[in-house]
Amino acid sequence: MCGFACLAWAMFPHDTGMKEEYALEKAKEALTKFLQENHLRKTPERYAVLERIWRSEGHFNAESLYRDMQGEYRVSRATVYNTLELLLQSHLVVKHQFGQQEAQYEKVATDKVHHHLVCTGCGKVKEFSDKHIRTTIQARRFAYFEPGYYTLCIYGLCSKCKQKRRKQ
Ligand SMILES: [Zn+2]
Ligand SMILES: [Zn+2]
Repeated sequence: MCGFACLAWAMFPHDTGMKEEYALEKAKEALTKFLQENHLRKTPERYAVLERIWRSEGHFNAESLYRDMQGEYRVSRATVYNTLELLLQSHLVVKHQFGQQEAQYEKVATDKVHHHLVCTGCGKVKEFSDKHIRTTIQARRFAYFEPGYYTLCIYGLCSKCKQKRRKQ
C-alpha cells in the first residue's frame, strides 16, 4: 500500500486557474468543451450525472451514485459508469484508491481542498483541512508545471482499531 496512491492532481483549463469557486456552471462548460473536443454526444443524461455529483458532498462510489440517481432521473447504470469515466478523463472528478477498498470518487472543488486520514484497519476515511499545508503548497513553485487540485492521504489506525489491537 503506497501512501502516495491518492495524491491526485488534476489540471484545470487555463482560463479558470485556481479560482475559489468551481461552480456547477463552470463544470458544465468544461464538460461541454470536453465532449466537443472528443466528438462525444452532449446527452442530457451526462449533464444529469454531473449535476448530481455537484450537488452532493464528499465521497461516493459508482454504485452509490447510481442508486442516488434513481427516482430523480432516468439514467441507466451503464450511463452512470460511462459518464463517471468521462468526468475522470476531463478532470472534473478525481478517483481515490484508499488502500484495499473499492475506488471512491469526488468532485474537484478548489474552494474545499481537504486531506484524508485513512484507517488501514477498517477502511474508514476522515477528512481534514490544514491551513499550513495549504499555504505551503500555494507558495511552492513547480518547474514546468502549474498545479491545480491536490489532496493528501495519511494512512494509519483510527482510535477504535487502535483499541482493538491493544486488547489482542
Ligand atoms: Zn475527500
Ligand atoms: Zn479503523
